[in-house]
Amino acid sequence: MTQQQPHDHDKPYSEEDLGELDAPAFTQRPSPDGGGLTVTGTCPRCRGRTETEFRRGLPGTGSKGLFDRLTRRSPSVTEPEPLIGEVHFCACGHAHPQMPTDALFIGCGASWRIRP
Ligand SMILES: [Zn+2]
Ligand SMILES: [Zn+2]
Repeated sequence: MTQQQPHDHDKPYSEEDLGELDAPAFTQRPSPDGGGLTVTGTCPRCRGRTETEFRRGLPGTGSKGLFDRLTRRSPSVTEPEPLIGEVHFCACGHAHPQMPTDALFIGCGASWRIRP
């Protein structure tokens, strides 16, 4: 039986940049409304399940084109995929101790990038 490490609810909030991580467990999929991409994974700091949506607001580029390129994984793609091109923030949904009231994401404050 595999024991997964539990979500550390008691870890105090801290805006910590964890740098580039190998995070093969992170996945991205189109948002339900088609307006962006949702990246899902486990926060490397508090081990909570986090889900972040990246909106696409580029004028003139239909989202269809982006998703076509993503699914084909064309090497000529110039725009980095959100999964590896963006900074991810913990949004585990748990208000960790000492979390400021104006925090952008409800979570432990960690941020990281995913190594391509
Ligand atoms: Zn976290
Ligand atoms: Zn958490």
